[in-house]
Amino acid sequence: MTKYIQPILMLLILASYTTLINTPQDQIKVANHSTISKNYLLGKVSPSKDSKFSKIEKPYTLKSNIYMLNEAYLAYTKMYAAAAKEGLDLKIISAFRSFNHQKSIWEAKWTGARKVLGKDLSKAYQNAEARAKVILLFSSMPGTSRHHWGTDIDIYSLEDADFLQGKGKDIYTWLVQNAHTFGYCQVYTPKPETRTSGYEEEKWHWSYLPMAKEYLLEYQKHIKHKDIKGFKGDRVAEKINVIDNYVLGINPDCK
Ligand SMILES: [Zn+2]
Repeated sequence: MTKYIQPILMLLILASYTTLINTPQDQIKVANHSTISKNYLLGKVSPSKDSKFSKIEKPYTLKSNIYMLNEAYLAYTKMYAAAAKEGLDLKIISAFRSFNHQKSIWEAKWTGARKVLGKDLSKAYQNAEARAKVILLFSSMPGTSRHHWGTDIDIYSLEDADFLQGKGKDIYTWLVQNAHTFGYCQVYTPKPETRTSGYEEEKWHWSYLPMAKEYLLEYQKHIKHKDIKGFKGDRVAEKINVIDNYVLGINPDCK
């Protein structure tokens, strides 16, 4: 009998070793039983080739090639229909944005190719941390945007003034009262009343919590500052603690 023990033991060791090397290290299971990766949380994904994403159709957007997560899209279409009954048009103007897309926005501002508040930031702010903080008034650092997840959308306009009167005001008032029943939450609420850090208030940015909550938890578990790299000024990420101050600087009701 003992002569069988050694080969059996060898087989068991081999089997467990094979399982170990065949399991990709960054596979993360989420509640809807799909699997995501660390790269996914950083926006390094092609939504047109990924079955977790839907292309947003008319009348929900006027853009031709924008995507969001299937679950978030389904909930959004129900919200759109409910608002439409009140004569309100919740058009999506931005949804999923990739790491590379965010990188092009960030670097245009970092290098001064695109002016911010009328200034070439590369000249106005020699100090990297100060320059990053000005960009962060309006744009996320690549790898830290909730738009990377496909759970978050921008509705109607990107200008605060557009929500202070007329249709925009009606849309915002309706969203504040009703979006939660469809799973949506305004993550960037007024500061400092509701949050002490993070982006300025964004009345247009709404997040589909059933998925986004989970992605935020996984982000906290798996993403470190050293993972936020591959763009100009990436060394600043850790210095300004972009994860605690921006990724987590959201409306507590959306956590
Ligand atoms: Zn947004």
